[in-house]
Amino acid sequence: MTFDDGFNPGKQPEAAQWNAQMLAALRGHGINAALFPTLARMGAAGGLELVEAWGRAGHLIGNHTASHRSLADPKVSLDWFIADVRTADEAFKGLAGFGPMLRFPYLKEGDTQAKRDGMREWMARNDYRSAPVSIDASDWYYNIVYAAHLKAGDAGKAERVKQAYLRHLLDRADYYDGLARDVLGRSPVHVMLLHTNQINAAALSDVIAALTAHGWNIASASSAFQDPLYAQAPDTLPAGESIVWARAKALDFPGLRYPAEDAVYEEPLLRDAGLLP
Ligand SMILES: [Zn+2]
Repeated sequence: MTFDDGFNPGKQPEAAQWNAQMLAALRGHGINAALFPTLARMGAAGGLELVEAWGRAGHLIGNHTASHRSLADPKVSLDWFIADVRTADEAFKGLAGFGPMLRFPYLKEGDTQAKRDGMREWMARNDYRSAPVSIDASDWYYNIVYAAHLKAGDAGKAERVKQAYLRHLLDRADYYDGLARDVLGRSPVHVMLLHTNQINAAALSDVIAALTAHGWNIASASSAFQDPLYAQAPDTLPAGESIVWARAKALDFPGLRYPAEDAVYEEPLLRDAGLLP
């Protein structure tokens, strides 16, 4: 289980509480996860303290850049992006649990071969490794809908969104595992993309219980990243997405949607269920 972004106490009054709830859920289930913070989503010093708590609790800390810009954006140059990664590295490298691992914002690893390969070369030269995911999902979108219902005082609808969210994660885990079996011929140790957000603060324990009841065993993030799948460099452009998806794309696998995950796929499901705010 890996979590991106980090909470921002400057914008989220409940940031410290949500951070503690997520850490308590992981601790309660004996799970060592990874956090990939970005300075842009954490605000000033208060956000860094919440990130530090993850490292002190034994979770890995990685690098999710300073500004959270997409390397697939034509306006983002390779040199600018590298400088942005370095800025975040300076901010995080002294933290307990930090490892030089890069989680690309939006899982976008470059819109051109020069940017994609330039970033791969920079990481190799600087003892950085990429931290891809195998199971991608849209927890961030369910979080927006969930938070809107709570803000409107509709706890009943928020709870129904939470149940839909659990089904979504089980569905995406099954999908990417099936794709991996087709493409790799095996089921890898998966890396799941989630975020620090309100719905995970409320539901992470339920997420873990649902995955476990569905037959998943949850590995530590550090052992998951040892799977050779995550050292692969798929030949796709634009580069990125789930690394299982990218391997499938490089093999011209049929039926792959792009982007692999997005709100546009989830919104109709929630609308049909009467769960859009
Ligand atoms: Zn992010």
